[in-house]
Amino acid sequence: MKFSAFCLTLLVCMLLLPSYALGAESPSGINLYMNEKKLVSNEVQPRIVSGNTIVPVRIIVEEIGAKVSWDETTRKVTIVKNDVNIELVIDSKTALIKGKKESLEVAPVIEKGNTMLPLRFIGQFLGIEFKWDSLTTSVHMFKKDDSDSKPVTGPIDDEENHDHGEVTPPKPPTTGTGTGTKTPDSSVHLLTSIELSDKDLVVNAKDGSLVPTIMKLSNPNRIVFDFPNTTLDDSLQKLLVNNAGELPSKHPLVQKVRFSNFTDNPATVRIILDLKGTADYHAQPTKLPNQWTASIGEHQLTVVIDAGHGDQDPGALSITGRHEKDFTLATAKKVESLLLQDKRIAVLMTRSDDTFIPLDDRVSFANNNLADLFLSIHGNSAKATISGTETYYNRPESMAFANVIHKNVVAAAGFADRKVRQADFRVITKTTMPAVLVEVGYLSNKNDESAMYKEAFQDKVAASIAAAIKEYLNLK
Ligand SMILES: [Zn+2]
Repeated sequence: MKFSAFCLTLLVCMLLLPSYALGAESPSGINLYMNEKKLVSNEVQPRIVSGNTIVPVRIIVEEIGAKVSWDETTRKVTIVKNDVNIELVIDSKTALIKGKKESLEVAPVIEKGNTMLPLRFIGQFLGIEFKWDSLTTSVHMFKKDDSDSKPVTGPIDDEENHDHGEVTPPKPPTTGTGTGTKTPDSSVHLLTSIELSDKDLVVNAKDGSLVPTIMKLSNPNRIVFDFPNTTLDDSLQKLLVNNAGELPSKHPLVQKVRFSNFTDNPATVRIILDLKGTADYHAQPTKLPNQWTASIGEHQLTVVIDAGHGDQDPGALSITGRHEKDFTLATAKKVESLLLQDKRIAVLMTRSDDTFIPLDDRVSFANNNLADLFLSIHGNSAKATISGTETYYNRPESMAFANVIHKNVVAAAGFADRKVRQADFRVITKTTMPAVLVEVGYLSNKNDESAMYKEAFQDKVAASIAAAIKEYLNLK
């Protein structure tokens, strides 16, 4: 993944980006990366308008050291970067670039006080190359080198770099007392401890929240964790020899732990686990906001099973007065126990009892655990004559999983085939992995309902779901 290999031409991007937006729904949860650093926009999210990804302009221009200003009376946005001066007017498709008129496919708009601009436009005139990754619904942007760009993160994506020098940056970072064009994105937090037990890697900070970017690299096999906006505290700093620290490992799969202040600007602590053979990580929920922990173990695929509804949210009321939440939980638990028989799969349940879990918590549970798949189980409701199985997905990368689930569940349930459909249910929209919601049958239909509360039927459907998951994950 050398930088140059990523660089597609703008032409290719123009072909790729609109094709993603063919679906009726505008997909949400687009991730933005600049030189592989995740950009976080708290107020507004990137989205797709008329086939163009529009993004909050401020986080991008600040990231590349440009200046942006806003004139309220003329509703004019001015972006200045070196000798490039761009003037845009909200809701106008005409822009001035170095004094010359250019037209935009999508006019800039204001959303919650943020100017939203087409990514393609920004790329074209600010020298940013980008690549669309449909698997993760991410836009990876790369700033072309220019005179005042600093040497950044070093061999951060260096599968070809087999030496162990990666724990330290290739050049000493610049002191950064310069032009003042660079706006630090947020404050730097002190990392206070790095511990690897025989199971888990646990990293603590004095404050702030820890969200690393993680890479698995081979030759030699290692897992690299970069913690943005962090620096080592004195106790860890003392352990550094030539800017790199080393900790012995008690973990059966890990040779040793290395760490460093990988870059000072932006402040990034890098932790590397040198593996004995192969291993995988699974981020674990933590009790403390300023702690991050991952279990390190044999390679496993993580599947989140989501039993719809729960507690005060009973879901649909069936034709005989039973609750949807009971059907979903019973079936989900059967899927869980079937999948747990396969050691290659880690199963995470959004709920295992009659608990109320808000939709967004189900989503963040799956996202934070870096799940590979998400499946939500539901029972449908409409007028009594409607019967059958429906399977829903939202993001294009979930469609293949939806097809496999649907094929298996339809065969097992024996109800009418009401097809795979696209919808914007929150749990399948906001999740970041292939995510599917299956409506096994209609609780409002006499025939469907009487089957759906039978143990043998639930066993059969659960087996079909487990088989579909394995089929999709290619686990024979
Ligand atoms: Zn439901």
